[in-house]
Amino acid sequence: MAGAPGVQLIPSPEEIMQILKRTGAFREGHFVYPNGKHTAHYFQMPLAFRYYDTARVLAVALSRKFRVERDIASQLPKVSIISPSSGGIPVAFGVRDALSAQQIYWAEQENGKRMFRQYVNQGDINPCIIVDDIIRSGHAIEETVELVRGLGAPVIGCGAIVRFTSAPDQIEGVGTKSLVEFDEKFYDSAEECDQCTKGVPEEHVRF
Ligand SMILES: [Zn+2]
Repeated sequence: MAGAPGVQLIPSPEEIMQILKRTGAFREGHFVYPNGKHTAHYFQMPLAFRYYDTARVLAVALSRKFRVERDIASQLPKVSIISPSSGGIPVAFGVRDALSAQQIYWAEQENGKRMFRQYVNQGDINPCIIVDDIIRSGHAIEETVELVRGLGAPVIGCGAIVRFTSAPDQIEGVGTKSLVEFDEKFYDSAEECDQCTKGVPEEHVRF
């Protein structure tokens, strides 16, 4: 089906998953998280963002989910795109580019506390869109929403390439956009884990 001129299509979740598989960002096997939980899948999103073309496709697709929101589109270009951590920085640059938003900045963990770089609270503070590569629990976005509101800026959107369905679809009253909603099953212990039962060798992942 040919789209009308100007209609921009968003790739389907299946197409996005194919990109993530092809780049190794989506991995299947047997993984143990630092908190001891076991899973049969793992997302290492920077692997999809190491390829410029792939990074661009993913970021442009996510940007379209924001652009269709009248409340967001009407505020462009005086909008800031913010990442909660280093993993979201390439997403933020790609989304900024696609939306022609004015600013980008990101938070980092310093001594276990999420914060912006010193002096970032100076200058124009725009309405913000928070983007990350993946939303696993939603805590990173939640903390970043608080940081942004602390600067006196409204949060007008948030999202990620992948969101685990166990994470909330609204964070601090802001709806989350994602290209893939993934129903990850976490096992609390080896005894409950299917992959352990099958004897699949385990890989320990850092986070
Ligand atoms: Zn296991």
